[in-house]
Amino acid sequence: MSKSYETIFINNKKWIQEKLGQDADFFKKLADGQHPEYLYIGCSDSRATAEELMGMKPGEVFVHRNIANVVNTLDMSSTAVIQYAVEHLKVKHIIICGHYGCGGVKAAMTPADLGLLNPWLRTIRDVYRTHQAELDAISCDQMKYRRLVELNVQEQCINVIKMACVQQRYILDDYPIVHGWVFDIATGELIDLNIDFEEILTDIQKVYDLTNSHWLMSKKNNKNLL
Ligand SMILES: [Zn+2]
Repeated sequence: MSKSYETIFINNKKWIQEKLGQDADFFKKLADGQHPEYLYIGCSDSRATAEELMGMKPGEVFVHRNIANVVNTLDMSSTAVIQYAVEHLKVKHIIICGHYGCGGVKAAMTPADLGLLNPWLRTIRDVYRTHQAELDAISCDQMKYRRLVELNVQEQCINVIKMACVQQRYILDDYPIVHGWVFDIATGELIDLNIDFEEILTDIQKVYDLTNSHWLMSKKNNKNLL
């Protein structure tokens, strides 16, 4: 009896032939290294892919996915990905992409003990608490759910901007820029929430300034003199 996953290996062989048909050096170039301009942080949901929905090719996007696209300062996985992307790959854009119909966000709106998921969903429940007045004023449950998806993206953008590596590199290079997007599974549309990166950065630095700005500015000025 054939196993369903065997199809994947058949698909893989087809994909190799397709790529080589378009460019005989495709895999040689891929093996030379990666220089992605984008870091994409999205949900693990099987419907919200990264490269496919953005029309990007292998090598163009550094990707991190977890349940409900959360960036938590205590989560070594997402913070290590961000630090590597910012300091070593020197990505120019960091995208937090949520999606309507997110099961993780829905679970965080559910008053129930969800076991191991509790600490993970706590971050999203905290987003609800931070924006409780706005969310509680929305009478339609579906609209409230959609708004929490958007607010979760916004708050995770703020969590990224709080990171020292992001602030420090922005002072030196004017990059990376942090973007908040939502993918609408029902239409396929990618929606830009137009997060005001500069404004958020200025605002949060009143409390979370981790730049050692005097030292960094002298480093930047010296770099410009060279
Ligand atoms: Zn999701």
